Amino acid sequence: LWSYTKKCVIIILSLNVMFLYSASQIQTVTLIPGDGIGPEISTAVMEIFDAAKAPIQWEERNVTAIQGPGGKWMIPPDAKESMDRNKIGLKGPLKTPIAAGHPSMNLLLRKTFDLYANVRPCVSIEGYKTPYTDVDLVTIRENTEGEYSGIEHLIVDGVVQSIKLITEQASQRIAEYAFEYARNNQRASVTAVHKANIMRMSDGLFLRKCREAAEKHKDVKFTEMYLDTVCLNMVQDPTQFDVLVMPNLYGDILSDLCAGLIGGLGVTPSGNIGANGVAIFESVHGTAPDIAGKDMANPTALLLSAVMMLRHMGLHGHAKKIETACFDIIRDKKVLTKDLGGNSKCSEFTKAICQRV
Ligand code: NAD
Repeated sequence: LWSYTKKCVIIILSLNVMFLYSASQIQTVTLIPGDGIGPEISTAVMEIFDAAKAPIQWEERNVTAIQGPGGKWMIPPDAKESMDRNKIGLKGPLKTPIAAGHPSMNLLLRKTFDLYANVRPCVSIEGYKTPYTDVDLVTIRENTEGEYSGIEHLIVDGVVQSIKLITEQASQRIAEYAFEYARNNQRASVTAVHKANIMRMSDGLFLRKCREAAEKHKDVKFTEMYLDTVCLNMVQDPTQFDVLVMPNLYGDILSDLCAGLIGGLGVTPSGNIGANGVAIFESVHGTAPDIAGKDMANPTALLLSAVMMLRHMGLHGHAKKIETACFDIIRDKKVLTKDLGGNSKCSEFTKAICQRV
């Protein structure tokens, strides 16, 4: 009897240790569902993660604009506290009023958490018809300054001025990030995109920092190209590009152009990477108010952003499993949302992926 009891105790203890071990592997992510179609596509991602048994638990937070002391716009304290603690976030789209009201909450999030690198992999999806079938590039956009520094003023009536701010520190860290990204992701080259022929001082400084980073990372090929030349070459033959690094405004425009090459914003993921391990992954499309609440949204962009997030967290197996299931369903063409050329609902597309993972 004594030996039987001992065996039982050992088994119970081992089970406890195994439970504690697996529980400690579950990581918490701050989920900002966002506005419009945001909650629908967030639900889709959560269901697919559940089906794939991804070791993630979600902490949902709303990010609605609130005004703090002195009327300053800020993100709600409970959302900030959650991000500060968890470091990793997944975010749906947030609406922004045009030319009045609160500022862009997306910009505020980037500023609050110093998310200096916007990373967008643009990879052709097999079976999804687009003008090109073999796009495989990544845009890395400086996310904190340039024309988006928010420094604007009225000079005299009828004349306004917006300042383009380029600093040595921000240029250096984005250039370094681009080379490190290339190395860590087995990518062969980095192209610096600029207009240093016209904006000699600002883009000149940005380019100089890219050249300095290139000197330190000789294993990665470095090229530099004017923005207009990149645009021309990109639509003629996107396969010549690998990693592209650029200041904020150029990145905003060029990254949407690249998204268009692989089928649009509905299938393009992105990540906003900051210092000290903080990162927020987000779909790049907007709130799609025309289809919100109608079960018509395509959750692919948010799902692929969540896949990027898993890779960032080192969960490569789960990332691959979910990505493969999503691409399989798109390739099969049996269950597709309307924007992908099908007739299926968001919930049906989600269910098909859940059954495939
Ligand atoms: P949008 O991306 O919301 O919509 C453009 C078109 O694409 C619409 O026809 C829409 O139905 C469609 N669409 C977008 N995402 C889709 C999806 N996942 N599945 C199927 N169809 C999809 O752009 P918009 O109308 O210019 O912007 C609406 C709101 O979104 C604005 O308030 C804007 O500020 C905000 N916005 C937010 C973000 C963000 O949070 N990152 C980005 C862009 C726009």
